[in-house]
Amino acid sequence: MKKYIIFPFLLSIVLLSCNRDNDETKLKAQPIKKVIAAPTPKKSTKKKVAIYRLGSFDIVLFHYAQSQLDSFYNIQTIDCGIKELPINAFVKERNRYVADTLLKYLFINKPKDAQYVLGLTEKDICTEEGNNPYWGIFGLGWQPGPACVISTKRIGKGVSNAKLKDRFAKIILHEMGHNFDLDHCTNHECLMADAEGKISNVDKEKKQLCGKCRKIIKGFL
Ligand SMILES: [Zn+2]
Ligand SMILES: [Zn+2]
Repeated sequence: MKKYIIFPFLLSIVLLSCNRDNDETKLKAQPIKKVIAAPTPKKSTKKKVAIYRLGSFDIVLFHYAQSQLDSFYNIQTIDCGIKELPINAFVKERNRYVADTLLKYLFINKPKDAQYVLGLTEKDICTEEGNNPYWGIFGLGWQPGPACVISTKRIGKGVSNAKLKDRFAKIILHEMGHNFDLDHCTNHECLMADAEGKISNVDKEKKQLCGKCRKIIKGFL
C-alpha cells in the first residue's frame, strides 16, 4: 500500500524539478551555433611511381613521361630529381650501364610511399642476352616488380621530336606493364609486344594494350 501513496508524491517532485530545469534552460538559452565539420580530405587511392632522372635528362621528356603515366595508367608520379648513376653499373669497355644493377639501385632508393620506381637516363644501358653479356636495350623492368629503367640513347637518332616522344612513351608504358605483371604479347600492335631489340618493332606497336593485356592489368591498377 505504501508504494501507491509514495509514488504520486515522488512523481510530483520529479515533474517540479523538470519544470524548474526547463525554466532555467529557457533563461540561459543561447542562439544555436551550427558546427559544420570540415570535410576530411580524401586520401588518393592512386598508386605512386617515383621517378629519378639518372644523370642529366631532358626536362621536357621528363614531364612528358609524367603525363603519359598519369593519363595511361592513372598513376601518380613523384619527382625525385636527379641522381648520379652508380659507378658499379658502368661497363667501361662498352661505355654503357648494366640495367639490372640500375634496377637494384633504384629499388634501394625507392621512397616508402611509392609502390614503383622508374629511372630515366640518356646513357646507354644493357642486359645479358644469350651469349652477349652487354646487349644494348631501350628499357628493362622487373616482372612483376617495383622498378624499371628507360634509356633514350637508342631511340632518338635521326628522327623528329614527335617520333622520339612516341617511342619514349611506348617504352615507358611497356616496362611499367612488366611491373604490373604483363608478359610479352603475341599481338604485334599491342604495347606489350616484344621489341626484340629492334626500334622498328616499337614503331609497329600502337600506344594501347590489347583486350587480353587490359584484362590482366585491371587487378594491378
Ligand atoms: Zn618487354
Ligand atoms: Zn597484349
